Amino acid sequence: MHHFRYTDQNLHCESVELAAVARLYGTPTYVYSATTMADNLHRLKNSLIGLDVQVCYAMKANSSLAVLRHLGNLGAGFDLVSGGEIRRVIAASGDVHSSVFAGVGKTEDEIRLALENGIFALHVESEPELARINHVAGTLGIQAPVAIRINPDVDAQTHAKITTGKQGNKFGISLAQAKLVYEAVAKLKHISLKGVQMHIGSQLADTGPFVEAVKKMVPFVEELKRDYGITYFSIGGGMGIIYPDALASGTQEWWDAKPAAQRPVSPESYGEALTPLLAPLDLKILLEHGRYIVGNAGVLVTRVEHLKRAGGKNFLVVDAAMNDLIRPAMYDSYHEIVPLHRDTSRRALVADVVGPICESSDCFAKDRQLQEVGEGELIALMSAGAYGFSMASRYNSRSLPAEVLVKGSSFELINARETFEQMVANEKIPAFL
Ligand SMILES: *Cc1c(COP(=O)(O)O)cnc(C)c1O
Repeated sequence: MHHFRYTDQNLHCESVELAAVARLYGTPTYVYSATTMADNLHRLKNSLIGLDVQVCYAMKANSSLAVLRHLGNLGAGFDLVSGGEIRRVIAASGDVHSSVFAGVGKTEDEIRLALENGIFALHVESEPELARINHVAGTLGIQAPVAIRINPDVDAQTHAKITTGKQGNKFGISLAQAKLVYEAVAKLKHISLKGVQMHIGSQLADTGPFVEAVKKMVPFVEELKRDYGITYFSIGGGMGIIYPDALASGTQEWWDAKPAAQRPVSPESYGEALTPLLAPLDLKILLEHGRYIVGNAGVLVTRVEHLKRAGGKNFLVVDAAMNDLIRPAMYDSYHEIVPLHRDTSRRALVADVVGPICESSDCFAKDRQLQEVGEGELIALMSAGAYGFSMASRYNSRSLPAEVLVKGSSFELINARETFEQMVANEKIPAFL
């Protein structure tokens, strides 16, 4: 469910007309719904009924300061993957004490920053990393709280670039190895064992792989609790969202109309499947979803530059490009594309929706059926709240896009469109030229 709807044929985010946002701040612009994020977070928090749940929002999905402040206000901790992310949480007055620090290549400086700011735990991916954490904690004269990331070797049945819990990828330690690692860790002076972690991949469409992974982990987690007194089990993130039917899936009716067997994963189905497996552990459960919390809470608004007809095809050239939203180029991902002004009297148009960048992969959709739209009209790429702006670049010397947050009938620019001066601010032409 989300808060993007047509009212009087005009697409709204909550009570704000998206065209009004575009008029004020130009395009391309990301627009986020604060209420949708809040609803998603709330549903996740309540998914594992009766369990002690801590949601650590995986902020790499969308790390805008305003988004962090909003989710932090609602009680979220954060799943952090770099020193920059730690600083962002601090800058947004977020809670580092209920946040975790993950990633396969943490530097000494990043480890120090996390420890000095009272991180809840570091999620460790290898033995050399443990030695490094032990060393840094030693120099600070403290014990570093850690959990080991286990790779449960299950197939998340998602895109190869976003699967992480299968043997042969770079993440975690295998279950077979894990026992020895925990034994070794327990002997390190400056390490305090707090928990165990897993994360099997992203954009999971159903509960099957989550269930399989948790089932594989449970006997080991029980052992860890008994032998080392661990207090939590982080089951990672990865819950998928609806991309192809994005607009319609904003309503309860859409969900109700789906036969149970075809319903996509939701916090409720996830909770129903996992609570019986997790409850007997009697541990705190950490959830680290990113995409689920923000994905359907954002759209990318873009303007049509031209409708070009060539080689028997139509190309809708828009002012957003792969630098603004790289998911289609990177993962062949699908984003639903809808007009800001819906006019059912217009003809249909089948077109490739492309950006202006000099790469064939700068294509948001191929042979997509759309309502006919012309130069200057506005369209929205749905479900662009996760891995959208956070993966944006300046390729082709295009400025980073603007971001706007909507809450009810209020909206505000939360990140101004980058200027040319900002883009080149750190560059210098050496004197020898
Ligand atoms: C990326 C990541 C997540 C979040 O993934 P989503 O698919 O956005 O939910 C959670 N945990 C870890 C360790 C990650 O790397």
